Amino acid sequence: MTLRTRAAVVEKAGLPRPYSSSRPVTVRDLELLGPLRNEVLIRVEAAGLCHSDLALVEGVRRPPLPIVLGHECAGSVVEVGEDVKSVRKGDRVVLSFAQSCGECVYCLSGRPTICDPGRAANYEGKLVTGGTRFRLDGKEVHHHLGVSAFSEHIVVPASSAIPVVQDVPFEKLALFGCAIPTAFGAVFNVAKVRLGSSVAIFGCGGLGLNLVQAARIAGASQIISVDIREDKLRKAELLGATDLVDASKQDPVSEVKRLTAGRGAEYCFEATGVTRVMLQAFMATRKGGTTVILGVTSAEDRVELPTWLIMGEERLVVGSYMGSIVPRRDIPLLLNLYAQGKIRLEEVITGELRLDELNEGLDRLADGVAVRQIVKMR
Ligand SMILES: [Zn+2]
Ligand SMILES: [Zn+2]
Repeated sequence: MTLRTRAAVVEKAGLPRPYSSSRPVTVRDLELLGPLRNEVLIRVEAAGLCHSDLALVEGVRRPPLPIVLGHECAGSVVEVGEDVKSVRKGDRVVLSFAQSCGECVYCLSGRPTICDPGRAANYEGKLVTGGTRFRLDGKEVHHHLGVSAFSEHIVVPASSAIPVVQDVPFEKLALFGCAIPTAFGAVFNVAKVRLGSSVAIFGCGGLGLNLVQAARIAGASQIISVDIREDKLRKAELLGATDLVDASKQDPVSEVKRLTAGRGAEYCFEATGVTRVMLQAFMATRKGGTTVILGVTSAEDRVELPTWLIMGEERLVVGSYMGSIVPRRDIPLLLNLYAQGKIRLEEVITGELRLDELNEGLDRLADGVAVRQIVKMR
Protein backbone atom coordinates (compact mmCIF):
# COMPACT_ATOMS: atom_id res chain seq x y z
CA MET A 1 0.00 0.00 0.00
CA THR A 2 1.23 3.48 -0.86
CA LEU A 3 -0.45 6.77 -0.06
CA ARG A 4 0.24 10.47 -0.63
CA THR A 5 1.05 12.81 2.21
CA ARG A 6 1.76 16.53 2.43
CA ALA A 7 4.94 16.94 4.44
CA ALA A 8 7.41 19.67 5.47
CA VAL A 9 10.72 18.82 3.80
CA VAL A 10 14.16 20.33 4.42
CA GLU A 11 16.38 19.92 1.37
CA LYS A 12 19.17 22.31 2.35
CA ALA A 13 20.30 23.40 5.83
CA GLY A 14 22.20 26.52 6.93
CA LEU A 15 20.31 28.99 4.71
CA PRO A 16 20.47 32.66 5.79
CA ARG A 17 17.85 34.21 8.06
CA PRO A 18 15.14 35.28 7.97
CA TYR A 19 13.73 31.88 7.05
CA SER A 20 10.54 33.61 5.91
CA SER A 21 12.68 34.75 2.92
CA SER A 22 15.17 31.89 2.41
CA ARG A 23 12.43 29.27 3.04
CA PRO A 24 14.45 26.18 4.09
CA VAL A 25 11.21 24.24 4.72
CA THR A 26 8.95 23.45 1.77
CA VAL A 27 5.67 21.56 1.88
CA ARG A 28 5.83 18.74 -0.66
CA ASP A 29 3.46 16.06 -1.78
CA LEU A 30 5.30 12.83 -0.95
CA GLU A 31 4.66 9.17 -1.49
CA LEU A 32 4.47 7.19 1.76
CA LEU A 33 5.03 3.44 1.62
CA GLY A 34 2.71 1.48 3.93
CA PRO A 35 3.79 -0.09 7.23
CA LEU A 36 5.91 -3.25 7.15
CA ARG A 37 6.40 -5.75 9.98
CA ASN A 38 6.51 -4.04 13.44
CA GLU A 39 5.53 -0.68 11.96
CA VAL A 40 2.40 1.45 12.13
CA LEU A 41 0.79 4.08 9.93
CA ILE A 42 -0.23 7.18 11.90
CA ARG A 43 -2.48 10.08 10.97
CA VAL A 44 -0.75 13.05 12.62
CA GLU A 45 -3.14 15.46 14.34
CA ALA A 46 -0.84 17.99 16.03
CA ALA A 47 2.91 18.59 16.13
CA GLY A 48 5.12 20.97 18.14
CA LEU A 49 7.99 23.02 16.72
CA CYS A 50 11.04 22.43 18.96
CA HIS A 51 14.55 23.89 19.14
CA SER A 52 15.95 20.58 17.87
CA ASP A 53 14.06 21.22 14.61
CA LEU A 54 15.63 24.67 14.43
CA ALA A 55 19.07 23.14 15.10
CA LEU A 56 18.58 20.91 12.04
CA VAL A 57 17.50 23.82 9.83
CA GLU A 58 20.47 25.89 11.08
CA GLY A 59 22.87 23.04 10.19
CA VAL A 60 23.95 22.53 13.83
CA ARG A 61 22.60 18.98 13.72
CA ARG A 62 23.33 17.30 10.45
CA PRO A 63 21.17 14.29 9.57
CA PRO A 64 21.06 13.32 5.88
CA LEU A 65 18.87 15.48 3.63
CA PRO A 66 16.26 15.71 2.26
CA ILE A 67 14.37 14.99 5.44
CA VAL A 68 10.82 15.44 6.74
CA LEU A 69 11.13 17.79 9.75
CA GLY A 70 9.55 17.44 13.21
CA HIS A 71 9.80 14.98 16.09
CA GLU A 72 7.13 15.97 18.64
CA CYS A 73 3.58 14.91 17.75
CA ALA A 74 0.43 12.98 18.50
CA GLY A 75 -2.08 11.30 16.23
CA SER A 76 -4.10 8.16 15.68
CA VAL A 77 -3.26 4.73 14.34
CA VAL A 78 -4.62 4.13 10.83
CA GLU A 79 -3.09 0.75 10.11
CA VAL A 80 -0.73 -1.70 11.78
CA GLY A 81 1.86 -3.91 10.11
CA GLU A 82 2.42 -7.59 10.77
CA ASP A 83 3.23 -8.67 14.36
CA VAL A 84 2.19 -5.35 15.96
CA LYS A 85 0.55 -6.02 19.33
CA SER A 86 1.17 -2.82 21.33
CA VAL A 87 -1.36 -0.63 19.45
CA ARG A 88 -4.49 -1.13 17.35
CA LYS A 89 -6.22 0.75 14.58
CA GLY A 90 -7.96 3.82 16.03
CA ASP A 91 -5.69 4.14 19.08
CA ARG A 92 -4.56 7.65 19.98
CA VAL A 93 -0.79 7.79 20.33
CA VAL A 94 2.11 10.03 21.30
CA LEU A 95 5.30 9.46 19.30
CA SER A 96 8.70 8.86 20.90
CA PHE A 97 11.67 10.28 18.98
CA ALA A 98 14.15 7.98 20.73
CA GLN A 99 13.92 4.94 18.48
CA SER A 100 14.66 1.68 20.24
CA CYS A 101 15.12 -1.95 19.25
CA GLY A 102 14.12 -3.59 22.55
CA GLU A 103 16.99 -6.06 22.31
CA CYS A 104 20.37 -4.31 22.60
CA VAL A 105 22.35 -4.07 25.85
CA TYR A 106 21.00 -0.55 26.50
CA CYS A 107 17.37 -1.48 25.89
CA LEU A 108 17.80 -4.53 28.12
CA SER A 109 19.28 -2.41 30.90
CA GLY A 110 16.27 -0.08 30.90
CA ARG A 111 17.90 2.69 28.87
CA PRO A 112 16.07 2.67 25.51
CA THR A 113 16.86 6.36 24.83
CA ILE A 114 20.48 5.38 24.13
CA CYS A 115 19.59 2.20 22.19
CA ASP A 116 22.41 1.29 19.77
CA PRO A 117 20.43 0.52 16.58
CA GLY A 118 17.91 3.26 17.47
CA ARG A 119 20.62 5.89 17.71
CA ALA A 120 22.26 4.68 14.48
CA ALA A 121 18.90 4.89 12.69
CA ASN A 122 18.33 8.43 14.01
CA TYR A 123 21.77 9.55 12.72
CA GLU A 124 21.04 7.97 9.33
CA GLY A 125 17.53 9.43 9.06
CA LYS A 126 16.03 5.94 8.87
CA LEU A 127 13.57 3.83 10.81
CA VAL A 128 15.04 1.36 13.32
CA THR A 129 12.94 -1.25 11.53
CA GLY A 130 15.04 -0.55 8.41
CA GLY A 131 15.19 2.00 5.58
CA THR A 132 12.92 4.91 4.71
CA ARG A 133 9.25 5.11 3.71
CA PHE A 134 9.00 8.62 2.20
CA ARG A 135 9.61 9.07 -1.55
CA LEU A 136 9.78 12.22 -3.70
CA ASP A 137 9.86 11.55 -7.44
CA GLY A 138 11.01 8.01 -6.62
CA LYS A 139 13.95 9.21 -4.46
CA GLU A 140 14.30 8.57 -0.72
CA VAL A 141 13.36 11.29 1.79
CA HIS A 142 14.65 10.74 5.33
CA HIS A 143 12.84 10.48 8.66
CA HIS A 144 13.71 12.97 11.41
CA LEU A 145 14.37 10.99 14.61
CA GLY A 146 12.13 8.20 13.37
CA VAL A 147 9.08 10.46 13.65
CA SER A 148 8.95 13.28 11.03
CA ALA A 149 6.07 14.94 12.81
CA PHE A 150 5.29 17.57 10.15
CA SER A 151 3.53 15.23 7.76
CA GLU A 152 -0.17 14.41 7.44
CA HIS A 153 0.67 10.73 7.69
CA ILE A 154 3.78 8.94 8.93
CA VAL A 155 5.05 5.38 9.20
CA VAL A 156 6.93 4.68 12.44
CA PRO A 157 8.24 1.66 14.34
CA ALA A 158 5.47 0.31 16.60
CA SER A 159 7.87 0.77 19.54
CA SER A 160 7.78 4.56 18.93
CA ALA A 161 3.97 4.79 19.17
CA ILE A 162 2.87 5.13 22.80
CA PRO A 163 -0.85 4.47 23.28
CA VAL A 164 -2.82 7.08 25.22
CA VAL A 165 -5.92 6.35 27.31
CA GLN A 166 -6.26 9.77 28.96
CA ASP A 167 -8.66 12.31 27.50
CA VAL A 168 -6.16 14.97 26.41
CA PRO A 169 -6.56 17.08 23.24
CA PHE A 170 -4.05 16.35 20.49
CA GLU A 171 -2.43 19.81 20.55
CA LYS A 172 -1.53 19.25 24.22
CA LEU A 173 -0.71 15.59 23.73
CA ALA A 174 2.01 16.48 21.17
CA LEU A 175 4.17 18.00 23.94
CA PHE A 176 4.35 14.62 25.65
CA GLY A 177 6.58 13.54 22.75
CA CYS A 178 9.53 15.81 23.60
CA ALA A 179 9.31 18.87 25.88
CA ILE A 180 7.57 17.21 28.82
CA PRO A 181 9.36 13.83 29.01
CA THR A 182 12.73 15.52 28.43
CA ALA A 183 12.17 17.96 31.30
CA PHE A 184 10.43 15.66 33.78
CA GLY A 185 12.81 12.78 33.07
CA ALA A 186 15.81 15.07 33.64
CA VAL A 187 14.41 16.14 37.02
CA PHE A 188 13.07 12.78 38.27
CA ASN A 189 15.14 10.10 36.52
CA VAL A 190 18.50 11.83 36.08
CA ALA A 191 19.04 14.54 38.73
CA LYS A 192 16.57 12.92 41.16
CA VAL A 193 15.80 16.33 42.69
CA ARG A 194 15.22 16.01 46.44
CA LEU A 195 12.42 17.57 48.46
CA GLY A 196 13.35 21.02 49.72
CA SER A 197 16.41 21.40 47.51
CA SER A 198 17.64 24.36 45.41
CA VAL A 199 17.41 24.24 41.61
CA ALA A 200 18.65 26.67 38.96
CA ILE A 201 17.34 26.39 35.39
CA PHE A 202 19.20 28.11 32.56
CA GLY A 203 16.79 28.90 29.71
CA CYS A 204 13.02 29.43 29.71
CA GLY A 205 12.02 27.79 26.43
CA GLY A 206 9.79 24.74 25.97
CA LEU A 207 12.27 22.65 27.93
CA GLY A 208 13.22 25.21 30.59
CA LEU A 209 9.62 26.06 31.49
CA ASN A 210 8.76 22.39 31.89
CA LEU A 211 11.86 21.93 34.06
CA VAL A 212 10.39 24.59 36.35
CA GLN A 213 7.13 22.63 36.66
CA ALA A 214 8.96 19.36 37.23
CA ALA A 215 11.16 20.92 39.95
CA ARG A 216 8.04 22.37 41.58
CA ILE A 217 6.32 18.96 41.59
CA ALA A 218 9.53 17.38 42.97
CA GLY A 219 9.21 19.76 45.93
CA ALA A 220 12.28 21.94 45.34
CA SER A 221 12.12 24.85 47.79
CA GLN A 222 14.04 27.24 45.56
CA ILE A 223 13.67 27.33 41.77
CA ILE A 224 15.82 29.97 40.08
CA SER A 225 15.06 30.64 36.40
CA VAL A 226 17.67 32.30 34.20
CA ASP A 227 16.94 33.81 30.78
CA ILE A 228 17.69 36.91 28.75
CA ARG A 229 14.02 37.71 28.11
CA GLU A 230 11.78 39.33 30.68
CA ASP A 231 8.54 37.86 29.22
CA LYS A 232 9.86 34.31 29.45
CA LEU A 233 11.04 34.84 33.02
CA ARG A 234 7.47 35.91 33.89
CA LYS A 235 6.16 32.65 32.44
CA ALA A 236 8.66 30.75 34.60
CA GLU A 237 7.35 32.63 37.63
CA LEU A 238 3.76 31.62 36.80
CA LEU A 239 4.87 27.98 36.63
CA GLY A 240 6.64 28.00 39.98
CA ALA A 241 10.02 29.75 39.75
CA THR A 242 10.80 31.41 43.09
CA ASP A 243 13.62 33.66 41.80
CA LEU A 244 14.29 35.18 38.38
CA VAL A 245 17.68 36.14 36.95
CA ASP A 246 17.82 38.31 33.82
CA ALA A 247 21.15 37.26 32.29
CA SER A 248 21.04 40.25 29.91
CA LYS A 249 21.44 42.52 32.95
CA GLN A 250 23.12 40.39 35.63
CA ASP A 251 25.92 37.81 35.75
CA PRO A 252 23.92 34.59 36.21
CA VAL A 253 26.66 32.69 38.09
CA SER A 254 27.13 35.31 40.80
CA GLU A 255 23.35 35.89 41.00
CA VAL A 256 22.57 32.17 41.50
CA LYS A 257 25.30 32.04 44.16
CA ARG A 258 23.99 35.16 45.88
CA LEU A 259 20.48 33.67 45.96
CA THR A 260 21.77 30.42 47.48
CA ALA A 261 23.75 31.78 50.46
CA GLY A 262 26.91 31.97 48.35
CA ARG A 263 27.01 28.23 47.72
CA GLY A 264 25.34 27.73 44.33
CA ALA A 265 22.29 25.58 43.54
CA GLU A 266 22.23 21.88 44.36
CA TYR A 267 20.95 21.11 40.85
CA CYS A 268 21.65 23.25 37.77
CA PHE A 269 19.90 22.43 34.49
CA GLU A 270 21.15 23.84 31.19
CA ALA A 271 18.36 24.12 28.58
CA THR A 272 19.76 26.42 25.89
CA GLY A 273 22.24 24.51 23.72
CA VAL A 274 24.73 27.38 24.19
CA THR A 275 28.14 26.13 25.38
CA ARG A 276 28.85 29.35 27.31
CA VAL A 277 25.64 28.76 29.26
CA MET A 278 26.64 25.15 29.95
CA LEU A 279 29.78 26.47 31.65
CA GLN A 280 27.68 29.00 33.59
CA ALA A 281 25.38 26.21 34.79
CA PHE A 282 28.40 24.23 35.95
CA MET A 283 29.95 27.21 37.75
CA ALA A 284 26.62 27.98 39.47
CA THR A 285 26.38 24.43 40.91
CA ARG A 286 27.34 24.01 44.55
CA LYS A 287 29.88 21.55 45.99
CA GLY A 288 28.53 18.03 45.79
CA GLY A 289 25.84 19.22 43.36
CA THR A 290 24.70 18.06 39.93
CA THR A 291 24.86 19.88 36.59
CA VAL A 292 22.51 18.47 33.94
CA ILE A 293 23.27 19.29 30.29
CA LEU A 294 20.20 19.14 28.04
CA GLY A 295 20.72 21.60 25.15
CA VAL A 296 21.46 20.44 21.62
CA THR A 297 24.90 21.37 20.25
CA SER A 298 26.90 20.35 17.19
CA ALA A 299 29.27 17.37 17.32
CA GLU A 300 32.25 19.78 17.31
CA ASP A 301 31.19 21.90 20.29
CA ARG A 302 33.30 21.70 23.46
CA VAL A 303 33.07 23.02 27.02
CA GLU A 304 36.26 23.42 29.06
CA LEU A 305 35.59 22.62 32.72
CA PRO A 306 37.87 23.30 35.70
CA THR A 307 38.64 19.69 36.61
CA TRP A 308 39.50 20.43 40.23
CA LEU A 309 35.91 21.47 40.80
CA ILE A 310 34.71 18.05 39.59
CA MET A 311 36.98 15.88 41.75
CA GLY A 312 37.81 18.26 44.59
CA GLU A 313 34.22 19.43 45.06
CA GLU A 314 32.62 16.04 44.38
CA ARG A 315 30.43 17.34 41.58
CA LEU A 316 28.46 15.41 39.03
CA VAL A 317 28.06 16.52 35.39
CA VAL A 318 25.48 14.48 33.53
CA GLY A 319 23.67 14.56 30.20
CA SER A 320 20.22 13.33 29.36
CA TYR A 321 18.49 12.47 26.07
CA MET A 322 14.69 12.59 26.16
CA GLY A 323 14.90 12.64 29.95
CA SER A 324 16.46 9.15 29.91
CA ILE A 325 12.91 7.81 30.11
CA VAL A 326 11.39 4.46 29.23
CA PRO A 327 8.69 5.89 26.94
CA ARG A 328 6.00 3.24 27.40
CA ARG A 329 6.48 3.29 31.17
CA ASP A 330 6.91 7.04 31.75
CA ILE A 331 4.75 8.87 29.18
CA PRO A 332 1.50 7.41 30.64
CA LEU A 333 2.63 8.52 34.13
CA LEU A 334 3.20 12.07 32.87
CA LEU A 335 -0.20 12.07 31.16
CA ASN A 336 -1.78 11.15 34.51
CA LEU A 337 -0.08 14.15 36.13
CA TYR A 338 -1.47 16.38 33.37
CA ALA A 339 -4.96 14.88 33.68
CA GLN A 340 -4.83 15.67 37.42
CA GLY A 341 -4.04 19.33 36.66
CA LYS A 342 -0.48 19.17 37.98
CA ILE A 343 1.20 20.10 34.69
CA ARG A 344 0.22 23.40 33.01
CA LEU A 345 0.64 24.01 29.31
CA GLU A 346 -0.99 27.45 28.90
CA GLU A 347 2.34 29.24 29.44
CA VAL A 348 4.22 26.83 27.19
CA ILE A 349 2.02 26.80 24.08
CA THR A 350 2.37 30.25 22.51
CA GLY A 351 0.72 29.87 19.12
CA GLU A 352 -0.64 27.77 16.30
CA LEU A 353 0.80 27.34 12.82
CA ARG A 354 -0.29 25.84 9.54
CA LEU A 355 2.05 23.36 7.90
CA ASP A 356 3.08 25.99 5.32
CA GLU A 357 3.98 28.53 8.04
CA LEU A 358 6.91 26.62 9.54
CA ASN A 359 9.52 29.04 8.15
CA GLU A 360 7.83 31.94 9.94
CA GLY A 361 7.54 29.79 13.07
CA LEU A 362 11.27 28.99 12.93
CA ASP A 363 12.06 32.72 12.78
CA ARG A 364 9.96 33.34 15.90
CA LEU A 365 11.68 30.45 17.67
CA ALA A 366 15.15 31.71 16.69
CA ASP A 367 14.25 35.26 17.79
CA GLY A 368 13.17 33.91 21.18
CA VAL A 369 9.65 35.35 20.92
CA ALA A 370 7.90 31.95 20.74
CA VAL A 371 8.01 29.03 23.16
CA ARG A 372 5.98 26.12 21.71
CA GLN A 373 4.11 26.67 18.45
CA ILE A 374 1.76 23.88 17.50
CA VAL A 375 0.97 22.82 13.95
CA LYS A 376 -2.56 21.50 13.69
CA MET A 377 -2.60 19.19 10.73
CA ARG A 378 -6.26 19.69 9.92
ZN1 LIG B 1 12.32 18.38 20.79
ZN1 LIG C 1 18.09 -1.21 21.68
